[in-house]
Amino acid sequence: MSAPNKQFIHGILLDELQAWLVASGEPKFRAKQIWQWLYHQCVHSWDEMTNISKTLREKLAEAFVFQALEPVVDQDSSTGTRKLLSRLHDGQMIEEVLIPADDRRTVCVSSQVGCVFGCVFCASGQHGVTRNLQAGEIVSEVLLAQKEYGDRITNIVFMGIGEPFDNYEEVMRAIRILNDPDGFCLGARRITVSTCGVVPGIQRLLEEGIQVELSVSLHAPNDELRSELMPVNFSWPLNELIDVCKRYTQITKRIITFEYTMVRDVNDTEVCARELVALLRTFPCRVNLIPLSEIDEYDGKTSRPESVKMFIRYLQKAGINVTVRWSKGLDVNAACGQLRAQHTEA
Ligand code: SF4
Repeated sequence: MSAPNKQFIHGILLDELQAWLVASGEPKFRAKQIWQWLYHQCVHSWDEMTNISKTLREKLAEAFVFQALEPVVDQDSSTGTRKLLSRLHDGQMIEEVLIPADDRRTVCVSSQVGCVFGCVFCASGQHGVTRNLQAGEIVSEVLLAQKEYGDRITNIVFMGIGEPFDNYEEVMRAIRILNDPDGFCLGARRITVSTCGVVPGIQRLLEEGIQVELSVSLHAPNDELRSELMPVNFSWPLNELIDVCKRYTQITKRIITFEYTMVRDVNDTEVCARELVALLRTFPCRVNLIPLSEIDEYDGKTSRPESVKMFIRYLQKAGINVTVRWSKGLDVNAACGQLRAQHTEA
């Protein structure tokens, strides 16, 4: 795939496409026709846009790049989860995970090549960040997943490689295209943005006025432990994080999900359970407990089932809504925190 100096067509907003058409001497209404082909018919080339003139298709091809991803590896897991590895135009690799469950067809997308935040139990964050994904590349991850499912995507989660708020502009642009009724048309509440606790990003999202779901990786109930597990805590400690989460909940009236990866004898003790309750009981929220997916780069072990049950008891007793997510796809390293572009890590 050649390196484009042009923009990806899947990263262009409808009004921008309309403006480009007008500037190119074409009628504005063509923009919605083009979007129909891109997001409803999900075509794979300009030539398939049969109600668009050849002249306009040539102009489009000159101005924009059509395809952003080239799938190179597809791994199935015994649980039904699939990991897709794709090459970007500059040779970088990116992963996404397809997670089917009941009537849901969820795709977990990446927002960056690598990640700068270095959470200790995350394979994606061990080698720093190479670059941000462009909106067109993120949207292309979703379209690729839909093609692979052979069916409509029902949920998108930004929980793959990268920190979405470290690439705020492009992530929000992708979300607008995916949410636009003339675009991919997926309800905002079916899109979840997950952050490791980038406080300015949460503040920006609450001012954005878009009703996406927000999930915050907490993983520890006190600063000392959280700083050990998640270096982001040195920049935005728990008091600042919880303050902005409370503000977010008050202003948006939306409930935040706190992700809590459980590491045996590290953050799954009874003292931690009590601290977690004290931290979260003052405002409405939900907690998702995730027994650790063990990785080579971190020697922590997954929690024992009795520790998970003890946490559930404490949280429920305090009236906090709690769920447990047993990671899927361990056999292909597709589980949360185990996404990694193995082909680039020789
Ligand atoms: S868990 Fe998320 S924020 Fe933390 S290092 Fe991994 S990708 Fe980055």
